[in-house]
Amino acid sequence: MQNELPNADLESPAPVLPTPAPAPVKLTEVSSLTLEGLTRFLTEELGERSFRAGQLYRWMHQRGATSFDEMTDLSKALREKLKQRAEIVPLVKDAEQRSVDGTIKYRWKTRDGRYIESVYMPSEDRKTLCVSTQVGCAMACTFCMTGTLGLKRNLTPGEIVAQVHAVNREVRKNEGLETLRPLSNLVFMGMGEPLHNFENLKTSLAILQSQDGPNFSHRHITVSTVGLVPMIERFGQETDVKLAISLNASTDEQRSKTMPVNRKWNIAALLDACRKFPLRQGRRITFEYVLLRDFNDTDEDAARLIQLLEGIPAKVNLIPYNENPGLGFQTTMDQRAERFRELLCEGHVAAFIRQNRGRDIAGACGQLANRGGENASESSQSPELP
Ligand code: SF4
Repeated sequence: MQNELPNADLESPAPVLPTPAPAPVKLTEVSSLTLEGLTRFLTEELGERSFRAGQLYRWMHQRGATSFDEMTDLSKALREKLKQRAEIVPLVKDAEQRSVDGTIKYRWKTRDGRYIESVYMPSEDRKTLCVSTQVGCAMACTFCMTGTLGLKRNLTPGEIVAQVHAVNREVRKNEGLETLRPLSNLVFMGMGEPLHNFENLKTSLAILQSQDGPNFSHRHITVSTVGLVPMIERFGQETDVKLAISLNASTDEQRSKTMPVNRKWNIAALLDACRKFPLRQGRRITFEYVLLRDFNDTDEDAARLIQLLEGIPAKVNLIPYNENPGLGFQTTMDQRAERFRELLCEGHVAAFIRQNRGRDIAGACGQLANRGGENASESSQSPELP
């Protein structure tokens, strides 16, 4: 026998069920895509013609546009579609500090409330930006304030590149310049270990070097590493920009005390990777050597350094230490630094004392730590080295 529905059910109105909220659409971070990736996104995901990718890319990476509304030569319909499906990752200026020497340190707030810093260093013949690649750093070098933060997260390619666009905007405004890209040089020596965020670094370099983007020459970009040995090989094979090694010691004992990475890859392993590095003709590897008083700045250190660098096309940048409260090291006296430089030169190693920029605003090497920001109070990720 068939079941019959009771009449009452037929007569009563259908229950009103709550409409489930639509699943949030994950926005594609288009400012993190190379031109090829952006072309794929526009044609395959949005059904647009490929030339639109070039227009969008140039808006983001030549003019530094931070919203789709600025892109007036894109149709309104396309701009609306982009707003529904894509985003340009913004960095909001949170603070700026100006040094007496013209250096400006910028602190940016990321979308998820993190803080990073970039340092603008103008000089007569160049305008250089020191760029960050991570929020905090896992490498824990004991002389460095960033190292005390631990690693919070990697920056996306869009966030790395956004520092360059934002400072270009600032320089244009501050210095009354018309040129779209006043910055001439980039050094990846800000917060973080660039090779510990290699894929995002590589994508950001591809964007920064692209002709439809800011078009930086490989000669004007330097990436500095503490010495993640397997990544140095990949870096040499997959990019063409300049390499700097943060060496800072003449013995493993010294280096392991200040740079924990040395316990995994010691000086011999690091210099072996440097000897195998595919250098372009006429190019040298820069070795950075932070001078720490009575720790690594003796005549014996200079003699050992000469021996270590034998056979490597090298130049040494000697960096007088910027004292950081609580980290326990002192800066080398000027005379001692000069003597150290002379000894290296006598041993046929090109050596320079690097002018310290932005010391008075804690914007110099090893001093970036988001003072006033919030990163320092959070827990951090443990390092995962390649
Ligand atoms: S010196 Fe560089 S790699 Fe070492 S902790 Fe500081 S930011 Fe990280």
